[in-house]
Amino acid sequence: MERPLRVAVVGAGPAGIYAAEALAGQDDVPVTVDLLDRLPTPFGLVRHGIAPDHTKMRALADTLRHTLDHPGVRFVGDVEVGRDLSVADLRAHCDAVVFTHGASGARRLGIEGEDLPGSLAATDVVAWYTGHPDADRARVEAALARARDVVLVGVGNVALDVARVLARCPAELEQTDMPQHVLDVLAAAPVERITLLGRRGPAQATFTTQELRELGHLSAAVALTDPDGLDEESEVRAVARNLAALREFAEHVPEAGKASVRLRFFARPVRLCGDERVTGVVVERTAVDPADRLSGTRETEVLPADLVVAAIGYQGHDLPGLAVEGGTVPNEGGRVLRDGAVSPGEYVAGWIKRGPTGVVGTNKHDARETVAALLADSPTLPRVEGADLVDTLRARGRRPVLLENWRAIDDAEHALGATRGRARTTIHDRDALRAHAHGAQR
Ligand SMILES: Cc1cc2nc3c(=O)[nH]c(=O)nc-3n(C[C@H](O)[C@H](O)[C@H](O)COP(=O)(O)OP(=O)(O)OC[C@H]3O[C@@H](n4cnc5c(N)ncnc54)[C@H](O)[C@@H]3O)c2cc1C
Repeated sequence: MERPLRVAVVGAGPAGIYAAEALAGQDDVPVTVDLLDRLPTPFGLVRHGIAPDHTKMRALADTLRHTLDHPGVRFVGDVEVGRDLSVADLRAHCDAVVFTHGASGARRLGIEGEDLPGSLAATDVVAWYTGHPDADRARVEAALARARDVVLVGVGNVALDVARVLARCPAELEQTDMPQHVLDVLAAAPVERITLLGRRGPAQATFTTQELRELGHLSAAVALTDPDGLDEESEVRAVARNLAALREFAEHVPEAGKASVRLRFFARPVRLCGDERVTGVVVERTAVDPADRLSGTRETEVLPADLVVAAIGYQGHDLPGLAVEGGTVPNEGGRVLRDGAVSPGEYVAGWIKRGPTGVVGTNKHDARETVAALLADSPTLPRVEGADLVDTLRARGRRPVLLENWRAIDDAEHALGATRGRARTTIHDRDALRAHAHGAQR
């Protein structure tokens, strides 16, 4: 009898897990799935993106983990495609490959001063506060140690996440899974004023109302905004709700002893000031004409800033052997296109397929579309002769993190959390993750 179709899924974030679930959960085509990730841990941005104080959202990991237990799915962590395995290796070992490696590179502001110490991308800060092993601790912690005035560029949910985490008092973060060093640095950060800059008006901001309202309920900070653009009416319910929440913020006044989080619209940064490090942001007032075109008014001011965080979006990058165009892999309903033609046996799902938008659940429909294409193609996909992927990795001296190893990390994180009365604490250090993982391999 022909062996099951061997599929490699590259990236164990939501898209990869939903793709694995759709492949393993059907009976028409027998399939085995190797679910690879460059990290020793699964869940992608559910672990290293969703804000730690959003504990209910982060609990999505508890749903995603069921797929890892499926007998047809093998988690293969700590294996980076492009470094430990090439795309050609994958093609030689598997009958089909689904690329779901996300799009978590930062978009840049492209203005003078952006590379000064004290200027960070939201990706840096988010990676740090969620305990990503690749986070640049020294850079982020040096910036936070003197961050009295913080300017956040962007008015999407990620900007709000960063603002909220910085504005929260230690007690509000105590029960999260943030690493202890993160909690300690945040508790010591002297943050007094956080300003968010949106280049368009409040009606164009991309945050969701729930996230916006949360800013109004922080125990150690007051949410403020200016009345500019708030008299606008909108037929779009989500926009109308945002405007209503902002009108409430416009009535707030600063409170002694509390930090402030101010949303400013029609404002864009044109330059970061400072010699050794960031000291301020030159902000230009903008105008939006009836055709929705944005222009600068040349009216500028300097906002003091010890820390500037650009939260202006994410971007996909090339994987060696798989190029992106405009931040996504060219595809047709999930079938990878190379030089404009479908490349048999190669598929793509999630952010790297459609761009960095949507909520976790959006990736489920997206992955299902891709898997439907793969299963439809399966009768025509040639079965490869290659050895087992994990055997090849071991023969190359790699030590992949398999399910039992990941479970050992999971147990260690629960145990670490319990030492301080928390449900879990993220282990951020790659060597420590590996030690826990392989300590379990008896
Ligand atoms: C800061 C932030 C906060 C968010 N908050 C929310 C929220 O509150 N609610 C919500 O619904 N959505 C939220 N999202 C969106 C949500 O996280 C995404 O929709 C989702 O994670 C995208 O899934 P993905 O699988 O395409 O990518 P990712 O989650 O990025 O997963 C990609 C995976 O691929 C791995 N990988 C990358 N390169 C390689 C390689 N070369 N080899 C092997 N593996 C590789 C990565 O390690 C990662 O695990 C947030 C996103 C961000 C950035």
